[in-house]
Amino acid sequence: MPENLPQQLNSHQKQKAPIWSGLFASKAILNRLSSIGIDLIFPPRCAGCGHIDTHWCADCQRDLDLLTFTERIEPKVPLEAVAASGWHMDKLREAVQALKYENAREVARPLGEKLARCLSQQNWTIDMIAPVPLHTKRLAERGYNQAQLLAEVVADIHNIRCEAHALERVRETQSQVTVSGAERLVNIKGAFTANKTLIDNQCVLIVDDVYTTGSTLSACGEALILAGARAVYGLTVSVAGYSITHKKEIVDEYHH
Ligand SMILES: [Zn+2]
Repeated sequence: MPENLPQQLNSHQKQKAPIWSGLFASKAILNRLSSIGIDLIFPPRCAGCGHIDTHWCADCQRDLDLLTFTERIEPKVPLEAVAASGWHMDKLREAVQALKYENAREVARPLGEKLARCLSQQNWTIDMIAPVPLHTKRLAERGYNQAQLLAEVVADIHNIRCEAHALERVRETQSQVTVSGAERLVNIKGAFTANKTLIDNQCVLIVDDVYTTGSTLSACGEALILAGARAVYGLTVSVAGYSITHKKEIVDEYHH
């Protein structure tokens, strides 16, 4: 399905990546080259409906545009405010899943535009955008950070700088799918650090794909505040498994 060549690690990532991560990088490159070969035989299909010859079709875009709902989520300390562009269901869920697990990087554009519209509805003052980072190992396996792709679209539309390395994931965490409730906070706590030079005295917007309990945004927020951030906000494409006020049963698929 993908047509893009493997994403090159930048110099910062090269410095941080341990030697063994080269094995995963090689695997990612082979997978990608294999996918390019498959694309020659099988044309791309829409990640939302399977329509041939496009990665994201006009019908699915129309469905996405119809979801105009913006959810304000009660922020966890130390975030000032958090918003999501919709519930993690139907077309929005399919789009996030495709971006995250099916290598459909093209879907970052329509989802990022949705995030940008969601941000326009907030009265937040933002100096810079920081995507939730992946651990180096997972970045090498996937070949890209979906949160970074989303953050770059929002940054581009709002003309705000995006710092992909403002936050670093210093500890690999157990998949959030396999832990629940309060364990999530313990699992993720202390997993991030922030770059003081970039962060000091800045109002930072953290961008992620899915919001569940807020543990990840909270842990990122703590790292940013420790690094001197003036204020921290959160913006996610969808909100899942968080239904205290709306009493909706939504499958928790949060997984970095
Ligand atoms: Zn479609």
